[in-house]
Amino acid sequence: MQKISPDFLSKHKIDLNNLQFFTAPGCDACSHLGFKGRIGIYELMEMNKELEQLVLKNEASNYVVEEIAVKNGMITMVQDGLLKALQGITSVEEIFRVVE
Ligand SMILES: [Zn+2]
Repeated sequence: MQKISPDFLSKHKIDLNNLQFFTAPGCDACSHLGFKGRIGIYELMEMNKELEQLVLKNEASNYVVEEIAVKNGMITMVQDGLLKALQGITSVEEIFRVVE
C-alpha cells in the first residue's frame, strides 16, 4: 500500500468537522444534466492467504469473501465513491445511484 507523503497530507487534510459534499443541480450549459464526463469507482482488494484459500476452494459466498476482505482493509466501491464525492468530483446521490 502507498503512503501519502506528509507534505501532501498537511495541505489536504480532511476536516471531519467541515465535510463538504456537492450536488449537481445542472444549468443551461449542461442541459440540466449537472454532470460532464465519467469517472470510475473501484473496489480495491488486496489478496492475502486467507482470501486466496477461500477463493481457491470456491466454497465461500461472495458475501463472506467481501466481509473478510473488508476486515482486511478492502476499500469498497461506496468508500471509494465517497472519497471522490468529498473531493468534489461527483455527488453522493450519483454514488448510490451506481452502487447497489
Ligand atoms: Zn451545468
